[in-house]
Order: sequence, then structure tokens, then C-alpha cells
Amino acid sequence: MVHFHAPCLISEYVQEVGRGGRDGQRADALTLVSEPTGWLDSDDKQRSQFFESKTRSLQQKAQQLARKIPPQGEVSAISRQYQEGAIALGYLHSIGKLVWQDPFHYRLVGVGAPQKNAPPADAQRMHSYLHSRQCRWKSLLEQFGFRTEAQGLECGHCDNCR
Ligand SMILES: [Zn+2]
Repeated sequence: MVHFHAPCLISEYVQEVGRGGRDGQRADALTLVSEPTGWLDSDDKQRSQFFESKTRSLQQKAQQLARKIPPQGEVSAISRQYQEGAIALGYLHSIGKLVWQDPFHYRLVGVGAPQKNAPPADAQRMHSYLHSRQCRWKSLLEQFGFRTEAQGLECGHCDNCR
């Protein structure tokens, strides 16, 4: 699996990478990273504006979804029923409205509670993931809140471990 342009959200990235290794098969993921400043490639600037507007629309979609789906359930059921449903769940997690019971099940939390002001930008996390020097698996586990599992992990396969 090759990404020429990294997705803007880390939840989206995980969804895409997950498609590479269905049914427990091994897969390789390669992401090519470009500079958001547009110094190297003038298209990058436009792309980052596109991502910002996409992030906003995802935000709305996620909030609508939170009102429609059961308070807890299976991620795959949601992604079958709603386009970009799994990504929206990832977004809800990033703003603290959803917890993962395990990688396949979610539970909504604090729906209807007053909106937190600035949602911690998932886009920011994607950036720090791409520029991280530690094991990629470790970073991903940490991003999704699996801190115990991530502790001291070195997968031995990713670019940073090698
Ligand atoms: Zn690694």
C-alpha cells in the first residue's frame, strides 16, 4: 500500500492502512510526505486548504452520526451503514465523545454534553505521527489510547525500527 498524499486524519490513515492487510495477512505501508508550506511543491498548500475544509465537513458529519447511531456497537456495522462512518467514529474519539472498548467496538460518551471548545486536532496528530522517530506501531497504539500495549514496543518492521 502506498500513500502519495497522507490522509489528513490519523483515524483515516488507520482505516486505509487496515485495508492493506485484511484477514490477518501481512501488508507493507509506505507514505510519501510533503511539506505543507508549499516550498517544495506548490500543490501542497492547496492540498492543506482542501484538508481543512474536508476536516470541517467531517466534523459536521461526525456530530450528525453521533445522534443517529446506537450508544455502543461495532465499528464494521457503522462503516457498512454510513459512508465514511468509521472515519467519523475516529473523529468522535479524537474529540473525546467516543471510547474504544477494543479495536472493533465503540461506546459513545458525553453525547449531548456541551461541546469542548477546541477539539484537539486529529490533523495535528497525523503530522506528528508522520514526523515521529519512534516505532510506528507504538505511535499508532498511543494515538488510539492503548498506552499499556504501546509501552516499550518496537515492532522491528517499520522504517523507524530498522
Ligand atoms: Zn516499529
